[in-house]
Amino acid sequence: MPVTCGNRRRHPDGGTATHETVAAVRACYLAREIWPCGWQTGLVNPENGEQYVVECDGLTWHLPDDRGYTCEHDHTHIYAEVRQREGWDYAADPEEAGLLAGRGVEPVSMRGGGIDIDLPAMRYAMSLPG
Ligand SMILES: [Zn+2]
Ligand SMILES: [Zn+2]
Repeated sequence: MPVTCGNRRRHPDGGTATHETVAAVRACYLAREIWPCGWQTGLVNPENGEQYVVECDGLTWHLPDDRGYTCEHDHTHIYAEVRQREGWDYAADPEEAGLLAGRGVEPVSMRGGGIDIDLPAMRYAMSLPG
């Protein structure tokens, strides 16, 4: 649910007076740095079937402990060093998830949740030396 924010001067687009979450309003006031998200989503126009890309302009800020950053629409990016230290990584599809799982790395979907694992890909990764 949108939350009204009184710190409009700092908003990426200068116009919107709300954020999606209370966390975003807090970040708007307190974060040392904020910027528009830029996450790209491919969509299809139902009228003519044409594909187009929309960029998220949500407020983005650094996560605590410098783990990465997140936007008010939940587009979260965790830095590669942190992912490696914590033993997981992003996978775009089940095949990539299988390759990660076969190497003992926990696959996580780009949206930050669980993801299906392609078993042949996992067995293939397990069969590789090293
Ligand atoms: Zn704000
Ligand atoms: Zn976003």
